[in-house]
Amino acid sequence: MNINGLEKTKTFSFDRSHSAKVLFKRPDKFREIEDLSKHNRTLINTGSNLSYSPLGFYKDSISVKLKKFNRIIDFNLKKKEITVESGITLSQLLNFTLLYDLWIPQLPGYPFITIGGAIASDAHGKSCALHGTIKNSIKEMTIFHIKNGWLSLSEKENKEIYNLTIGGIGLTGTIVNVTLKLEEFKNKNFITYKTKVNSVNECISEITKKSKEKDSFVYSWNMAENLKSLGKGFVFQNKINDDNVENFKFIPEEKKNKFLPFLPIWNKLTLKTANWIFYYLNNSSNHFQEDDFTSVIFPFYGKEAYFKFFGKKGFYESQLLISENTIEDFFDEFKFIYKKFNPTISLFSVKNMRGTQEFLRFEGNKICVTFDFINNKKNILFMSELDKICVKLKIIPSIIKDSRLSKKIVEQCYPEYSRFRDLINNYDKKRIYKSEISQRLEI
Ligand SMILES: Cc1cc2nc3c(=O)[nH]c(=O)nc-3n(C[C@H](O)[C@H](O)[C@H](O)COP(=O)(O)OP(=O)(O)OC[C@H]3O[C@@H](n4cnc5c(N)ncnc54)[C@H](O)[C@@H]3O)c2cc1C
Repeated sequence: MNINGLEKTKTFSFDRSHSAKVLFKRPDKFREIEDLSKHNRTLINTGSNLSYSPLGFYKDSISVKLKKFNRIIDFNLKKKEITVESGITLSQLLNFTLLYDLWIPQLPGYPFITIGGAIASDAHGKSCALHGTIKNSIKEMTIFHIKNGWLSLSEKENKEIYNLTIGGIGLTGTIVNVTLKLEEFKNKNFITYKTKVNSVNECISEITKKSKEKDSFVYSWNMAENLKSLGKGFVFQNKINDDNVENFKFIPEEKKNKFLPFLPIWNKLTLKTANWIFYYLNNSSNHFQEDDFTSVIFPFYGKEAYFKFFGKKGFYESQLLISENTIEDFFDEFKFIYKKFNPTISLFSVKNMRGTQEFLRFEGNKICVTFDFINNKKNILFMSELDKICVKLKIIPSIIKDSRLSKKIVEQCYPEYSRFRDLINNYDKKRIYKSEISQRLEI
């Protein structure tokens, strides 16, 4: 439906836990972004709307969709810098920079995510133990705020707004363009090594050891179907393959399986079967294999069926940052509530993370643990018990991934929640930029 140049569409969060009929505006001129004030409504920015949480829409806001702002504005090979519009996707960006053996290493795992969305969520990639989050690759940005106008942001200019914008979940205005600091990246092929682990403890010590090695991306895949096999699995290590100098293949700019239907296939039994098949296939194959760029950096590309198999009800993800000295306590408490609720977990994975936690950013020198759950009552109860463990052990749960988190939990887990809220309220006195999540978290 079209209303005054706005498109009304029912939209969902990526985990499908939230939906709303939302008014979208797809500007392709600066003036159209400036003109949004005439609608007299609250706004929120949207990239590809691939966030698990409802960060890019709200029933009463206009979603400003930046997909047409996807141009490369400037490229300086000597300085290794590129200026792009924020709606450019990761694949569009990399298909240009990799031709010059350059990239940014903090790449979230799906090629159609936009640079604006990655910055506003302070995204990280597989190599986060080495490269931290995308914050480390930003030089400067230009944003437009409906009341505060055009602003240039960097460490030197408007530093406070710059800091609020990175991981600022779209609340400081529209990031229109950004200059990124590129890094050299010559060889675009990888070798993936795997090591079998039999328990959570073994997995964590293997990851900690391997993450210290130069130029390698380390993460795990673990079983969680019952307490007996919890943590059994493999630690994977991607290393650059210096022996394979084959030209790099372009990264797909469109989905492979566009029309996959939602099929509610995942349940305890099917997950158990799928996980054991995966386990035995890995156990019986070589301990290393050659991999190309897309399969290592964008592991979910071509595997969209995993998400569709949760059916229309979708799923929940819990991603947690846990300090090394509380990880054992965490898993003790985790096992205790597991016994009580017997949750259905479809994914359990561990990696290391590097950075300094500030505002609502998911960062820190900690261990990053991820679980996916089928969306059902028992699992939601289990997750609310997990919330209590997070508060008790000072664990940071991801707002970007877990669409269920309440204000109470976020306030208790993020030491800088109030500072972020107050600074946003001071900067945007009329609180024009609002999403479903900002409303729930009372920011
Ligand atoms: C399959 C899959 C794998 C993923 N893997 C990872 C991963 O490995 N690591 C990781 O960190 N994340 C990961 N993510 C999460 C993803 O990186 C973030 O949710 C990201 O924000 C999505 O980008 P988007 O372009 O879809 O933005 P949207 O979902 O549309 O928006 C996300 C946020 O950014 C804001 N925003 C978007 N564009 C702008 C703009 N131009 N100006 C101001 N604000 C803006 C929105 O208001 C919103 O708050 C993954 C997501 C998926 C679906």
